Amino acid sequence: MSKPCIICVAITGSLPTKENNPAVPVSVAEQVESTHEAFEAGATICHAHVRNEDQSPSSDPEKFARLKEGLEKHCPGMIIQFSTGGRSGAGKARGGMLPLEPDMASLSVGSNNFPTRVYENPPDLVDWLAAEMRTYSIKPEIEAFDLSHIHQAAAMNKDGRIPGSLYVQFVMGVKNAMPVDKDVFDYYIKTVERLVPDAEWCAAGIGRHQLTINEWSIAAGGHTRTGLEDNIRLDKDRLAPSNAALVKRAVELCEKYERPVADWQKAREILQIPLKAA
Ligand SMILES: [Zn+2]
Repeated sequence: MSKPCIICVAITGSLPTKENNPAVPVSVAEQVESTHEAFEAGATICHAHVRNEDQSPSSDPEKFARLKEGLEKHCPGMIIQFSTGGRSGAGKARGGMLPLEPDMASLSVGSNNFPTRVYENPPDLVDWLAAEMRTYSIKPEIEAFDLSHIHQAAAMNKDGRIPGSLYVQFVMGVKNAMPVDKDVFDYYIKTVERLVPDAEWCAAGIGRHQLTINEWSIAAGGHTRTGLEDNIRLDKDRLAPSNAALVKRAVELCEKYERPVADWQKAREILQIPLKAA
């Protein structure tokens, strides 16, 4: 049997609003409900940002705490991953929720351009975030927006700043960063396999490229990410009605390529993330 595929659902992000798609979950209650549907549909990692009442991005640890509590209650076993991305705060505020000890947190290890600004990840902040993740036994998901980020993560893995097996996510299709390019995608995989043979990898495509990257990653034996953070549409004419609808599309691709969808136990086994005592 071929290797199970872990489906991550990025439920909210910091950009899309209800004006873009009314299905984007904004309040913590909406986030828990939307994640629950996505979990039932087959997602086993929830990648989450939190928002203020006015939908603007927040880094408020209190909101993250309520979200974690809701997810643990309604999606038992699901892997909870908090974003430390730079849109919701600056400097160390990006890691202010890490003492809540989520299973995972995203970690960018280098800088690049975003659609309208520089995505700044200076070395001292990266090292501080990685150290916090070690302190609280949080597995980082490396957000690779560029080839150099894979090399940097491998170096940090080797010198112990990122202990254990590495989990790398390729992000493609962000405007002004790495486009959706199959040769680069294949080379990313080759580079991960060469530098860190025991690593697992995943991939995410932004906007209309989401489905393309889902298909490439599932076909190539990796894990995959979907959800309204990255893409709010089913196709050019239809908005996605829910996060679960996007997860179902990834599940269908797993069927097409005869990849079993990992349940939460299998996902935790693959990623070596034991269930934390509540
Ligand atoms: Zn995110």
